[in-house]
Amino acid sequence: MNLKKIILLFALIQGSVVNSFSQDVCGTSLETQESLVSQPNVLRQRNSTVYVPLRMHMVADNEGNGLPNISKLLDQMTRLNQDYLGTGIQFYMAGNGFFNLIKDINVYEDPSVNVQDILGYKSSTALNVFVTKNTYESSNDGGRILGYYTGLGADHIVMLNSQLSNTNNTLSHEVGHFFNLRHTFFGWEREPYSAATHGNPLSIRIAPQSSIPVELMDKSNCSTAADQVCDTPPDFNFGFNANGCNFTQQIRDPNNELVVTQKENQMSYFNNCAKYLFTEGQNTRMNNSLQSASRSYIRLPYIPTTTPITQLPSFIDLAAVVPTYNNVFIQWTPVEGATNYLVEFTDGRSYRYAIQNGSSIRARDLEANKTYFVRVRAFNEYFTDTRTLFGTFKTGNILSSVINNENDRFSIDLLGNPINKQSEFIQFNINSTMSFPAALKLYDMNGRLIHIESTNIESGSSLFRIPATNLNTGLHILAIESEYGITTKKILIN
Ligand SMILES: [Zn+2]
Repeated sequence: MNLKKIILLFALIQGSVVNSFSQDVCGTSLETQESLVSQPNVLRQRNSTVYVPLRMHMVADNEGNGLPNISKLLDQMTRLNQDYLGTGIQFYMAGNGFFNLIKDINVYEDPSVNVQDILGYKSSTALNVFVTKNTYESSNDGGRILGYYTGLGADHIVMLNSQLSNTNNTLSHEVGHFFNLRHTFFGWEREPYSAATHGNPLSIRIAPQSSIPVELMDKSNCSTAADQVCDTPPDFNFGFNANGCNFTQQIRDPNNELVVTQKENQMSYFNNCAKYLFTEGQNTRMNNSLQSASRSYIRLPYIPTTTPITQLPSFIDLAAVVPTYNNVFIQWTPVEGATNYLVEFTDGRSYRYAIQNGSSIRARDLEANKTYFVRVRAFNEYFTDTRTLFGTFKTGNILSSVINNENDRFSIDLLGNPINKQSEFIQFNINSTMSFPAALKLYDMNGRLIHIESTNIESGSSLFRIPATNLNTGLHILAIESEYGITTKKILIN
């Protein structure tokens, strides 16, 4: 098995094609940055690391196409937490299933127009990030917009799905805006510095097409000019026209002092720097933002699992050929610290993923006579900096008959059916021959999911209760989903 080939195959099936534009920019507008509240640059409190809940919304088209590999989401979390290590702020994947999969062509294609759609998807107890195909075209900023923060009104971040990775700082930059940081070159967004227009030494004291004072090297106006952070040196948007993380021009400020800029600042526009940083002043401003009233919704008492994962799982008896293509059982060794495993399959064209909390999967929807590549990655809600286990197998053409319903492992006995609309609970017994994790789901007659919970079905007979308040009358479907398939039961509410 050629490892490089497998990695390439997973990369190829990613939804989006990256077009190259003249310059990559951030779409967080001047107005949004201006509206960021001026705050005292004195740290109010910073005792220990604060873990911020992050709700990642992975947006695909209506058919589910265009979704990046979920592995890239783990890469992105890794990068974000690395970039924020020195700030005292760390992030974990909050909410059901670690991320929210949205199939909505409107949000996928243009999240700036479809703000109402977006607001409906947001979590009220997390920093919301929408990963979409497009951002929007800006007439002002002259480039491809990689991401933007909306400002306190809508209060969410949008980023291009092509940016989801551990190799760029797009999300780290936008999260900086979320936490009240402006660009280090604030005021120069619409017209980056050029010697021909603005002179050298600089002949203007107000940034072009703005009312923002030009920041001076002597720090005399550092608390009111540009980003209002005194330990970030002047930047006249030098990054916009720079080739990567290089800047060799000798530019002098209006006082004829040589400008020593900070290319590797997270809030600059320099691309491809080996490492980016936030200054102490920026850290203070971000932590003050996090402790402010407008951010109380992400200061939760919850402490996430942060156990580091150092081991790589290995497959247990991964067969070269699996005769029953619709019943492929794959097992690996569990590793310490992992609460979940991301399992991904591709045949080079299609992509399937599952997040398991045990160390095995039974794939039911693979095709016959195909070579599949499988990869498994251990993680928990915070620790995602893990390596990936790769494998390959071929499916046969035998259709396994054991699939849905008539599951011989367990049976469901409803207590009362039909169920009165006034009942507090839907109650049922599960009689099982074995113990296994499962999801209990309740759907209404339109296929709308009204209740979901994960549980462990124990061997023997166990009583389960699902809240029945606010149900509509009519037919409902109770589904027990596990690695052994889906078992359903009709329930009538009247
Ligand atoms: Zn920006």
